[in-house]
Amino acid sequence: MGVELKRSKRRPAWHKLAVSQVRHLTDDALEVTLTVPPNLRETFDFQPGQHITFQRVEADGSEVRRSYSLASTPRELAEQGTLRLGIKFIPEGSFSAYAKSSLAPGDVLEVLPPLGVFRADIEPDRHYGSIVAGSGITPILSIAAAALDTGATVTVLYSNRTEASTMFAPELAELQERHGDRFRLHHIRTRSEAASPLLTGRLTPERLRDVLAELVDPREIDEWFLCGPYEMVLGVKEVLEETGASAIHTELYYVE
Ligand SMILES: Cc1cc2nc3c(=O)[nH]c(=O)nc-3n(C[C@H](O)[C@H](O)[C@H](O)COP(=O)(O)OP(=O)(O)OC[C@H]3O[C@@H](n4cnc5c(N)ncnc54)[C@H](O)[C@@H]3O)c2cc1C
Repeated sequence: MGVELKRSKRRPAWHKLAVSQVRHLTDDALEVTLTVPPNLRETFDFQPGQHITFQRVEADGSEVRRSYSLASTPRELAEQGTLRLGIKFIPEGSFSAYAKSSLAPGDVLEVLPPLGVFRADIEPDRHYGSIVAGSGITPILSIAAAALDTGATVTVLYSNRTEASTMFAPELAELQERHGDRFRLHHIRTRSEAASPLLTGRLTPERLRDVLAELVDPREIDEWFLCGPYEMVLGVKEVLEETGASAIHTELYYVE
């Protein structure tokens, strides 16, 4: 009985959080800001890389739960009381289509506090590496901002179709401006020209091996964070393992 009580006490509970801002990021992605009242700030504290979960009842009565990684930092939560996330619109997607068509400031969402083992214990003398595609940048923005703030070094390879479809591009550029050589950001473009031929086209295992030979020395990186669709994440992980990398964290957004 005592054990049961202890268990139920620890079970995460749903909370109502208000949307304070909805911002256009690209033609198919939004940034949503949630305000966390002071009495819930400890409950919603998190480590960069973690995600929150929304629960919504559809018009037909069915319950939809979807997870979204936090793009903001624990410091922003402590100082401003806000959580920010990026939602990419999936055609006919139940939650993302609702967010795109209807979500507005003042709406209240049912939210489960941050969870997940895809997270960084940030230390100033480490070099964090990341390879992501599309909305997979969301947790990496949080990890990069928090790590750079402590004096760590961050390398990010970020793949998108075009510049216009790149989520959080201005925020990443701002981090680069602020932190100079400690933030090494390489945009890969699959359907438009990138900064070099090496970075133009799909991130196949062959292309990644070339990038690691010419642009990013994997021996300098202490810990890797990979985030995106199943196929990409597993392909990238295999190539990194060939280089001897062992500290590789993965987050899968979608498995077909
Ligand atoms: C831990 C975690 C963190 C996540 N963080 C983010 C985030 O930061 N930003 C973000 O935009 N998404 C994130 N996702 C994905 C998100 O949870 C949803 O799966 C996504 O928004 C689609 O939900 P939906 O209800 O709109 O679509 P659904 O109604 O679930 O799906 C509609 C159709 O799209 C397909 N589909 C579902 N998901 C995807 C996808 N991701 N890519 C392509 N096709 C898909 C389905 O097979 C179906 O055919 C995360 C997922 C996990 C597990």
